[in-house]
Amino acid sequence: MTIQKIFKPKLSVPVLALVSGLYLAVVQNTTFFKAVFAALNKSGHGNLPFETAIYLSLTLLFFLLLLLLASIKPLFKPLLMLILVVAAVVRFFMDTYGVVIDASMIQNLMETDFNEATELFNLKLFLHIFFLGVLPAVWVYRTEIQYRPFLSEVLRRLLIIGIAASLLGGTVFTYYKDFSFVLRNNRSLRYLINPNYPVYSFVKYLKDSMQTQAIQVNALGVDAIQNKSWQTRGKKSIVVIVVGETARAENFTLDGYVRETNPRLSKEDIINFPNTHSCGTATAASLPCMFSNLKRSRFSDSDAKQNENLLDVLIHAGVNILWKDNNSGCKGVCQRVTTENTEILKIPDLCAEGECFDEVMLLGLQSYFDKIENNTVIVLHQKGSHGPAYYKRHPEGFKVFTPECTNDQVQDCPQADIINAYDNTILYTDYFLAEVIGLLKSNAGKYNTALFYMSDHGESLGENGIYLHGLPYSFAPEEQKHIPFILWLSKDFSDSFGLDTECIKRQRNADYSHDNLFHSVLGMLDIKTSTYEADYDIFSHCHQAVNASSQQVMRH
Ligand SMILES: [Zn+2]
Repeated sequence: MTIQKIFKPKLSVPVLALVSGLYLAVVQNTTFFKAVFAALNKSGHGNLPFETAIYLSLTLLFFLLLLLLASIKPLFKPLLMLILVVAAVVRFFMDTYGVVIDASMIQNLMETDFNEATELFNLKLFLHIFFLGVLPAVWVYRTEIQYRPFLSEVLRRLLIIGIAASLLGGTVFTYYKDFSFVLRNNRSLRYLINPNYPVYSFVKYLKDSMQTQAIQVNALGVDAIQNKSWQTRGKKSIVVIVVGETARAENFTLDGYVRETNPRLSKEDIINFPNTHSCGTATAASLPCMFSNLKRSRFSDSDAKQNENLLDVLIHAGVNILWKDNNSGCKGVCQRVTTENTEILKIPDLCAEGECFDEVMLLGLQSYFDKIENNTVIVLHQKGSHGPAYYKRHPEGFKVFTPECTNDQVQDCPQADIINAYDNTILYTDYFLAEVIGLLKSNAGKYNTALFYMSDHGESLGENGIYLHGLPYSFAPEEQKHIPFILWLSKDFSDSFGLDTECIKRQRNADYSHDNLFHSVLGMLDIKTSTYEADYDIFSHCHQAVNASSQQVMRH
């Protein structure tokens, strides 16, 4: 075979499909096979014939799918080229970060901002895509596909499909017991087949988002009113809900971490809830879920987008809402409320390269407080500990744990350096939250003030070779789901709303989750609505008789 024939070949459709199928199976599915072999070794099912059978089955599966694709003659070549490039991109992210490309990951990617995305792009990725994706695609482009006369081509194709399908069926049948054992016990393996699962997920994402766009938003809690206790309350209330980003409980001193990452919060009279779990493992899932009345078990993104959320219910009850966002947006949650985007500001010392440190959200907050005439809930959406460039999330003064990993390719850093950089972001969040509490304290004379802090999800910092977050919930590690949850109430707030803080403290070790946010905020603000469920209100057992106590206050 001459060089000419290799680089500008003439091939029939079945041969091109077979070569491409083999390439996809062997080169682009290393993550899948690594997981398969690990599962086989663990269960003692590993043997060479079965392992060969898996390779053969995957190659045959790709071969058959490509043959079916080839029946749309004009699309075959461009689609095959696209598949080769997509598979190379997917493999890079799965291998490098241990992530899975599912519908929520794709949604995350689509809704993320440019700066966040650029942290993931680098020379290594570019070279990887070029050599393993673009070059094979160019080869396909240069291939001259040879067709026989129509009828002969069709008959031959059908015959080959028949043979390949029988071979696949035969292989699966021969090893049926092994296949079913491995697949039944490792359901997540199917997520790793590249590019089938990512392509399926992308189609699902498109379908879901088209459905969502077509549907009107259903009202929720329109019967919400400020309960009787409000009539006797002298002061207006300000509740700040801080939505954290990528903060995991494991690295909070308050939750048992050995390093001092909470020097400021430890000195505040806060209530910390150490056993709290997130709804999702990525912002795009967690954020809508936190504010929705759907529980994690019933949550779907399209349902959340079709229905109003906690903020709307509060508006129905006559509460003012302000959403300040220093992250890549509110994922639809703040669609119907006043929103300020601080990420786009250009404040010297606080902002650089198109993003700002979280304390930028504190600017102007006092003058906003000064003008408040109504009960108000303010949401501060942090940039927090978003990776992989943890070292960019905190000002220089918070570089306490060193050396920091300053490589956006975190997996190339020693794990200790990754943790150093990450811990510095937690230290900065500790400072940020303490500053918010300070601000609320200094306004406690004029308003009843309170703070609610929950992170959206956790993070993997290289444990078992897994980085970042976003794994499907069912098999995501604890580090991605166990989140910090902190509450601070001014004395007047708890007195006025009849919240027994000692009682809340006694229950702080219970299991809580994002499911509790919706009902607890309604509960703490004494808002009456049919959508409220006391079972999910963390305060429901700690209410003193509100009316009685506030009437007593009046009598005195
Ligand atoms: Zn997030």
